[in-house]
Amino acid sequence: MVYFDNAATTKPCRESADAVLRGLEDFGNPSSLHGLGLKAEQHREHARETIARALSASPDEICFTSCATESSNTVIFGAAASVGKRKKRIVTTSVEHPSVAACCDKLGESGFEIVRVRPADDGRFHVGDIISAVDDNTCLVTCMLVNNETGSILPIDKAFSAIKKKFPQTLTHCDCVQGFMKLPISVKKLSADMISLSAHKIHGPKGIGALYIRRGVHIPSLIVGGGQEKGFRSGTESVPLIMGFGAACEKLSVGISERYEKVSRLRDRLVRLCSETDGIYVNSTDNSSPYIVSIAVEGLKSEPLLHFLEQREIYVSSGSACSKGKKSSVIKEFGVPDRLRDSVLRISFSEDNTENEIDELIGAVTDAMNSLARIR
Ligand code: PLP
Repeated sequence: MVYFDNAATTKPCRESADAVLRGLEDFGNPSSLHGLGLKAEQHREHARETIARALSASPDEICFTSCATESSNTVIFGAAASVGKRKKRIVTTSVEHPSVAACCDKLGESGFEIVRVRPADDGRFHVGDIISAVDDNTCLVTCMLVNNETGSILPIDKAFSAIKKKFPQTLTHCDCVQGFMKLPISVKKLSADMISLSAHKIHGPKGIGALYIRRGVHIPSLIVGGGQEKGFRSGTESVPLIMGFGAACEKLSVGISERYEKVSRLRDRLVRLCSETDGIYVNSTDNSSPYIVSIAVEGLKSEPLLHFLEQREIYVSSGSACSKGKKSSVIKEFGVPDRLRDSVLRISFSEDNTENEIDELIGAVTDAMNSLARIR
């Protein structure tokens, strides 16, 4: 099998799966006062320390959630309910993942002014465009680091540091799901008050995410109850999944730049082979993360092409996994011409992929171009 859908989810690594199993065996509730509870608490705190270290943050700034979607919902609705009582503008981009975009849409319906910064004609975000969208009525700026459909890297560190200098009270949030453990991320350099993370994109289990909240930033909790996670996120913590998240993070903490180099070589080969093949276009720009490459195969619809590849056990996405075949507005924002928008495939790598697999993909796409019905 050739798995090129790592932006949708990754195969859990052995270390993560083993850690989940250990967490199921050490089944105590971390809130219990006896030894079993203490052991579960120690496991949870070890994972928290690992994730904090990966961001150069403090453990007390990390809160576990069920997924990145929950992290972003918590931050956006929380900011709106607190600072948003006085300040009614939210600045975001036109290419956010639905877990952020849908929150902004909802707040837009309830009276917030949502400013969606768009990429320039060259498909890149210009720092100045993000900065100039913020004013002193802005409660929150929420922008992703790496786009999940094209891999485009947004200039968040430069934008957020300028915004925090000019408007220190404006909260900054970054969805780092597709950048975490792939690009070096430090909370200080990013100037983010809050960051959303997800375990299943880094070879950890599904159903566990994290939220970084800078010390001193106070937003109301979305889930109330037993007061877990220092009262910020109630509900008994899923210690097995937390341990799986921590183990995946610990494993990937070593060799980020070596993996980046390896995946860059895969990306470069894919881009070269695409440019040598008539009718295949690369939508991702050269400022993108090498882990995600968006291509378009002129004249073929994404979905039949995806299933053609699947028959050869090559797994890819059409656009993003969440859009489930719907036409992506994000691809349009990045300037992909109308005639190619139904023909987009997202190829997303992990360090386990090989150059041979890329040759296999291009061979299979070429066969599909010769055998599948063309769009008229
Ligand atoms: N943000 C981005 C950029 C993503 O790619 C995804 C998942 O595809 C999410 C958020 C949502 O993550 P989760 O599945 O943990 O809710």
